[in-house]
Amino acid sequence: MPAYKIHEHTFDMVVVGAGGAGLRATFGLAQKGLKTACITKVFPTRSHTVAAQGGVAAALANMGEDDWRYHFFDTVKGSDWLGDQDAIEYMCREAIPAIIELEHYGVPFSRTEDGRIYQRPFGGMTTRYGEGPPAQRTCAAADRTGHAILHTLYQQSLAHDAQFFIEYFALDLIMDANGACRGVLALDMAEGTLHLFKAQGTVLATGGYGRAYFSATSAHTCTGDGGGMVLRAGLSMQDMEFVQFHPTGIYGAGCLITEGVRGEGGILRNSNGERFMERYAPSVKDLAPRDMVSRAMTMEIREGRGVGEHKDHILLDLTHLGPEVIHEKLPGIAESARIFANVDVEKQPIPVIPTVHYNMGGIPTNYHGEVVQLKNGNPDEVVPGLYAIGEAACVSVHGANRLGSNSLLDLVVFGRAVANRAAETVKADGKQAKLASDACDKALARLDKLRNANGGTPTAVIRDKMQRTMQADAAVFRTGDTLREGVAKMRDIHASFADVKVSDRSLIWNSDLIETYELSNLLDQALVTIVSAENRTESRGAHAREDFPDRDDANWQKHTLCSVDERGQTQIDYRPVHMYTLTDDVSVVPPKKRVY
Ligand SMILES: Cc1cc2nc3c(=O)[nH]c(=O)nc-3n(C[C@H](O)[C@H](O)[C@H](O)COP(=O)(O)OP(=O)(O)OC[C@H]3O[C@@H](n4cnc5c(N)ncnc54)[C@H](O)[C@@H]3O)c2cc1C
Repeated sequence: MPAYKIHEHTFDMVVVGAGGAGLRATFGLAQKGLKTACITKVFPTRSHTVAAQGGVAAALANMGEDDWRYHFFDTVKGSDWLGDQDAIEYMCREAIPAIIELEHYGVPFSRTEDGRIYQRPFGGMTTRYGEGPPAQRTCAAADRTGHAILHTLYQQSLAHDAQFFIEYFALDLIMDANGACRGVLALDMAEGTLHLFKAQGTVLATGGYGRAYFSATSAHTCTGDGGGMVLRAGLSMQDMEFVQFHPTGIYGAGCLITEGVRGEGGILRNSNGERFMERYAPSVKDLAPRDMVSRAMTMEIREGRGVGEHKDHILLDLTHLGPEVIHEKLPGIAESARIFANVDVEKQPIPVIPTVHYNMGGIPTNYHGEVVQLKNGNPDEVVPGLYAIGEAACVSVHGANRLGSNSLLDLVVFGRAVANRAAETVKADGKQAKLASDACDKALARLDKLRNANGGTPTAVIRDKMQRTMQADAAVFRTGDTLREGVAKMRDIHASFADVKVSDRSLIWNSDLIETYELSNLLDQALVTIVSAENRTESRGAHAREDFPDRDDANWQKHTLCSVDERGQTQIDYRPVHMYTLTDDVSVVPPKKRVY
């Protein structure tokens, strides 16, 4: 192997990712006096968080009755009883100070007449433990909430003493012989130089892996690099079978039309012009949770009531909302609909279809953001030095189905939690044990191999096969037969990576090499996703099995853990769901049938 020169950096904490989660953690850590680096493959304000539209949930009660306990109840029910109730309590209670804090940092929220933060209804958000009317809980900056939050967080980061390494691509975690994470190896994409970031703690805030699918609302950069690094380190991912389809991606283009549209009164209609959600969720109708709406739309299409030449999509009608609401509350989606569907939303409905949107599964953590694994019978064993937050993580607050506007919340609450935890456990400028001389060898060997990969199949060809297989076989509805077929196909596609061809051998702006790393991260997670889906013989949240239509709490109220080794062998295990709360301020919600 040729010698690679490595530039060494020593920090107390290194954060990989500069989306909402990574930035909140980065300046929180710096604020606590820890020497912190933030590495990001894209410029911070280009992270996918910038695209979030609808808003961020917190029971502020600015526009009607609300209570964080109702938010807790809704989130547990929304998760189809797969969420950890201690973590959900933590998130829903902390939501209120976290949003007020964002307001003080300068997020330009939309306002009510009397100057409070504007809040809109969102799917599955109710009052009085599901018995009352829909809650107005989702705090919004028009339909550009993620943009507003991400820019504010970046500004706050610059005000603190954190060091940014922008357009650096993290390649692999550096783990020691005791299984502790000691930092990360990264490539400066512009210079083509290698950098070892040694740290007492490494925080993965790398976002979701939506790009394992053909049609996704997420950015092309959402390739789950953190999850890929974790799997390569021999650790397990959790609940990967739960992939959220957003009901309203623009037909064809895949871009998102926010649930906020239905929050503002938009209605889904089939080819008869019928408001069909009345039949599926009589009380909350179009504001049912996403898994249910996506299934209802798929049923309508299957039964011949889809629209268009191929009767293969549905219409989202907001013509009755009037220009004022559209201009003030939904300007961004009016623009998206015009550009991507050639539709004037004041006059015509938008053609929409359920589109991959969010990964409930991820790197398992506790509510401090510390990565946990099942080890020697302990399901909550902390991996020393490793943290995960944001969409990359599975805390698990979203369980089997995330409620809209709970992700932006998860970013800020757990980004902050990691900083608080590290302030307790990490010593500023603390001494770090010397790394073994061969600590980077495995990561370097992999780099050298991929850079010189001279097989017969270009990266894009393998990626296309993976995306089409996942789209077809790990879809809104799943059955044993198609899942088994999908697993077999994904195993072959995963194995075909051995034959990948990279044509650029340089290290400077080698997008071919970067895409190949991203593909490898996606492949591991796609395989783990479909294997976990085939394994779970029940229906829960976003995982809807036609051959097992009911939820089976006796056998399946547990988190899936799945790992994959170098040869593509997968291994499944389980962790119990936390059916306890942190305090007596709220009581455990026992499982019951999930109807709306
Ligand atoms: C179109 C859209 C609209 C949404 N709207 C809402 C909404 O209204 N409300 C809501 O609650 N949720 C919404 N969501 C979900 C939510 O926005 C995301 O889950 C969330 O923004 C993810 O944030 P993150 O910080 O975890 O990751 P991201 O914002 O995806 O950031 C990932 C970061 O990791 C970095 N990174 C990744 N890999 C590497 C690597 N190998 N090396 C270095 N850096 C790396 C990237 O550069 C980036 O900075 C929406 C999602 C989409 C796609």
